[in-house]
Amino acid sequence: MRSEAGRLFKGTFWPKNCSRKIVPIRETTMTPLPRIAVIGTGGTISGVGKDRLDFYEYGTSGRFMHVEELIAGVPELTRVADIVPVRYKNVGSGEIGPADWLALLNLIHGTAESDPSIAGIVVTHGTATLEETAYFLNLAVKVPVPVVVVGAMRPSSALGADGGLNLLNAARVAGSPGARGMGVMVVLNDEINAARDVTKTSNYRVQTFVSRDFGILGYADADKVIFYRKPLRRTAPETEFDVASLIDLPRVDIIPAYAGADAALVEAAVAAGAAGLVSAGFPSGSPSPAQKVALKEAAKAGIAVVQSSRSGSGRVIDDKVTLREAGFVAADSLTPQKARILLMLALTVSSDIGEIRRIFDTY
Ligand code: ASP
Repeated sequence: MRSEAGRLFKGTFWPKNCSRKIVPIRETTMTPLPRIAVIGTGGTISGVGKDRLDFYEYGTSGRFMHVEELIAGVPELTRVADIVPVRYKNVGSGEIGPADWLALLNLIHGTAESDPSIAGIVVTHGTATLEETAYFLNLAVKVPVPVVVVGAMRPSSALGADGGLNLLNAARVAGSPGARGMGVMVVLNDEINAARDVTKTSNYRVQTFVSRDFGILGYADADKVIFYRKPLRRTAPETEFDVASLIDLPRVDIIPAYAGADAALVEAAVAAGAAGLVSAGFPSGSPSPAQKVALKEAAKAGIAVVQSSRSGSGRVIDDKVTLREAGFVAADSLTPQKARILLMLALTVSSDIGEIRRIFDTY
């Protein structure tokens, strides 16, 4: 008998006027539910506002629930998983940065290693930086259990709150046999996305997380969790980045291109000690002329420069004349914020530009 992990609506069925007791399937022959650790970091999914119409002030006037309270608010979780709550933080995700990524990485490793029966891990997270944490974990996690990052667009107290179902679906996906080998996933709005490809595209809509060029991996539908494709770029746990013992990552700053931009931001980043710079360039991938001069100087001085595009879709091509001659690395189809994370990790392995190019071709 299958467990209920992939199924949402199967429950005990008692026909009307039935004289015989029907023994619920769960109490007899079923396989145990998957054991899923849920690590809480805060964010809207755990937000409690002042009333049911508080859709945006809760971040400042409301409070964040601890993960145990968040889980208790979704009693249906007990039908799909054996949940183990793990506290991390209780903050808006604007406060989550590289030091937290490393701490979360260790928490994930520790949780999986201390309890081999853990079948999957869910991280609850604010949506503002969710895709960044997810992509970092996708590059750094070394344990084979599926990791799913989940958030919500409406606080738990609001009309139409989406967090409960998102959390339930995240647990179902984390416990689903198909989730192995998919790398870190992001689940919201019944959709399963690859951490590399997904980005937040809308400030308030529940369908905000979109994998623009490549599409979703699958659905968490009412009848089952179903996958249609698998990422080909290398993902956790098969990556070369071994950063669990670090307490911080090399500094990499993003330099946005905009009409008339001078070199001030590049110079400021260099002065702040950046080991790498990512140009969020004009589509199809170029800085402003003044930025280009400053970035070329930075590259000559040994700072790794990656060229991405601010368009949010399509590749930056590794152009032999403009990019290679300037000493820049093409970000390929990574958004600037994802290119920054890959460059931070690449710099823990090598500062050789050829090696960094190889890494950008691999992940
Ligand atoms: N401000 C929130 C955060 O990122 C937004 C959210 O969770 O949706 O924590």
